[in-house]
Amino acid sequence: MPVSEMISVEEARERILSFFSRLEPVRVPLLKALGQAIAEDIAAPFDVPPLDNTAMDGYAVRHEDTDGATQASPRELRVVADLAAGYILDTPVGAGEAVRIMTGAPMPPGADAIVPFEETDEPLRGPNEAPTRGDQVRVFKAAKRHANVRFRGEDLREGQVIMAAGRVVRPSEIGVLASMGLNEVPVYRRPVVAILSTGDEITEPGQPLKPGRIYDANAYSVAALVRAYGGVPKLLGIAKDTVEDLTAKIREGFDADMIVTSAGVSRGDFDVVKDVLAREGAIDFWTVRMKPGKPLAFGAFTPDGRKVPHLGLPGNPVSSMVSFELFGRPAMFKMLGRDDWERQIVRAVTRDQVRNTDGRRFFARCIVTKGEDGRFYADLTGPQGSGILTSMSAANGLTVIPEDLPVAHPGDEIDVMLLD
Ligand code: AMP
Ligand code: MG
Repeated sequence: MPVSEMISVEEARERILSFFSRLEPVRVPLLKALGQAIAEDIAAPFDVPPLDNTAMDGYAVRHEDTDGATQASPRELRVVADLAAGYILDTPVGAGEAVRIMTGAPMPPGADAIVPFEETDEPLRGPNEAPTRGDQVRVFKAAKRHANVRFRGEDLREGQVIMAAGRVVRPSEIGVLASMGLNEVPVYRRPVVAILSTGDEITEPGQPLKPGRIYDANAYSVAALVRAYGGVPKLLGIAKDTVEDLTAKIREGFDADMIVTSAGVSRGDFDVVKDVLAREGAIDFWTVRMKPGKPLAFGAFTPDGRKVPHLGLPGNPVSSMVSFELFGRPAMFKMLGRDDWERQIVRAVTRDQVRNTDGRRFFARCIVTKGEDGRFYADLTGPQGSGILTSMSAANGLTVIPEDLPVAHPGDEIDVMLLD
């Protein structure tokens, strides 16, 4: 049966993470993979670039034909073809010949250097008077062998691993994969996270608000976090504080990879929730040494022998977001095959006094800025009540005031976890 234990943030996180493993690999269309971890090594299917080609608009030449060329004594070459990117020229460039060529076009056989337009008389000619086949072009500067040529395979060799398993897909990875002709990527499946708000007073946004009631902030802030961290939120709505309603709504989440509920884990509503959770699975109620967000429920529902992890967040909107940040995010990252869930922590000078007298780790909402002296500064967002959700919205960081530090004074350096 549930016991209320007092545990550290790390211990809570460790226990939670032990319930999760990464989900199965799936192949998804390229753009859908953004933010997901790659599930197997990806090798280049061909050399990149696939052919020698020109890095500039200009003339493909035999470099020795330009030897000694200067502004005063240009070399004259005969233009034998005009080659755009995407086309191949089979006839070799002979002595005294040049091919007018556009960036990216494959090098014609025989040519070994590119003379850019700027080093020829092309810019001196009028509009629509560019040299064409049969014309002479004057070259004002000697080209070295291989000048402005990009070589086949200079970027990547066929078979070379371009992305190792575990790598997180960012826009630049999407670009690289597309350039390899790949339109699908093997990644670990996105977790579906079922989200349920509980409480007789909770009202769906968009509905009229009866006296004494409040709107459901938690389901939406948590759903947004789930999406931001790469998961798929499944909103189960709002359960009344009754055994029947709670049971029915929770069961609707049994096909998810994790169920997140909010509220009902502190003393007031403890009993209803406790009964339901105990009947549907094995859930512990913890007291975590943190502020905000002391009460937390965690365990697993066990519908027909399966295990569906359950994270029971506190009801206060700030507590609920901070608890999801500290415990839900790592769980989601683990399912996604990512191990980079840890937020960046920087040292910052607090400009406020931060009191922390009850032996818990204090995650106060703050605004982190970089001063002209290059150091980070932290300003609290104002009142830190865990019902004040606008303080979360104003913040880009959370202080990490240790359990045993009763006060940080203005000017002290503290740890701050960056949220953006
Ligand atoms: P509880 O954990 O049920 O005692 O709730 C703690 C506080 O959080 C109460 O003031 C609730 O009204 C509030 N609360 C609970 N659920 C939500 C929610 N989904 N959105 C906004 N506030 C909530
Ligand atoms: Mg309640």
